Amino acid sequence: MIKVKKRKILLLPGDGIGPEVIREVRKIITWFNDNKSLDFEIDQELIGGCSYDKHGTPITDEVFYKALESEVIMLGAVGGPTWDSLEFSKKPERALLKLRKELKLFANLRPAICFEQLVDASTLKPEIVSGLDIMIVRELTGGIYFGEPRGIKPIENGERKGINTHTYTTSEIKRVARVAFDLARKRSNKVTSSEKSNVMEAGQLWREEVQELHNKEYKDVELSHMLADNCAMQLLRNPKQFDVIVTDNLFGDMLSDQASMLTGSLGLLPSASLGAKNKDGEMRAMYEPIHGSAPDIAGKGIANPIASILSFAMALRYSLDLDKEADILEKAVQDVLNDSLRTKDIMSDSMKEISTSAMGDAIISKLQ
Ligand code: NAD
Repeated sequence: MIKVKKRKILLLPGDGIGPEVIREVRKIITWFNDNKSLDFEIDQELIGGCSYDKHGTPITDEVFYKALESEVIMLGAVGGPTWDSLEFSKKPERALLKLRKELKLFANLRPAICFEQLVDASTLKPEIVSGLDIMIVRELTGGIYFGEPRGIKPIENGERKGINTHTYTTSEIKRVARVAFDLARKRSNKVTSSEKSNVMEAGQLWREEVQELHNKEYKDVELSHMLADNCAMQLLRNPKQFDVIVTDNLFGDMLSDQASMLTGSLGLLPSASLGAKNKDGEMRAMYEPIHGSAPDIAGKGIANPIASILSFAMALRYSLDLDKEADILEKAVQDVLNDSLRTKDIMSDSMKEISTSAMGDAIISKLQ
């Protein structure tokens, strides 16, 4: 069993704009080391398409073992058209699935926050999204993306059949529901659990197990259940009714993307994927922006690094127990936005456009 090394941070920039945004995260970590007497040990490795190009695999064993012993993994993004035609097992995304599965990162936290300064960037009316602050907790290692049997097989009439299996067990449901209830207690104390219990047995089990956990341990938290299709609709109709939404892997994939777009700013939203704590209280975790490798803008110095920087703020809060430092970093981001500094993706009239690295520097200057 590989032990987690305290305060060890592994940077995995990946492909496309990944290296550009993670460079800014590295500057921020170094600032904390130099100015707040923190002792983060930083390491950096290849993952995804760039790893395939050099080693013929999207993640080498060496990098995988480094990930296993790191307290925090900061990922940029993987993938791009260069690697689209590779066979399934060599695709850049396989590295991510391997890390999520093997590190048992079962809880994916995706906040959807509408920054007041960017309220007009949403496609929804300002009064619908202004002040929006919801957290989606998506189960990440079970359900239909991993269930067996799976595959494509020929059938008698000459056609083919695609098979995926949606399964959940009591413990898989309860451990992710527990994360949602604990988070709600630190926020507005409200959890909405979302599934399709009307048409899926696994959804029925999901509802029953979440309810039972609530009855036994979390009676103080307000719990409601909502069918996933209704949840998708309510997210557009009245998103501010939600505080924490907990849902499975498949519905979480879609609902969290939908929620993120309410804010109109892909380049601003962070995420965390948390594993279970072992008996020594150690937890593995990976933090990454929700956006992809954005090949259309890679290498131009215009990518927004804020999503990655806010992902590091989540790492400070959830892995490193440094809430005060997380607050300082989040406030520095707000201050820069208040100063009307914008990267190209969030640019609007009367604002000043700056590059990826100038945005990192501006945030550091606010930290000072
Ligand atoms: P994307 O998120 O990379 O880009 C969507 C659009 O948003 C593009 O126009 C892009 O320029 C813009 N954008 C994204 N991040 C931005 C940022 N930080 N600043 C400014 N603009 C930004 O999604 P896509 O184009 O569908 O996917 C591109 C590649 O990324 C694909 O190969 C996909 O598989 C991969 N991907 C990887 C991850 C991951 O590594 N976790 C997630 C999603 C997609």
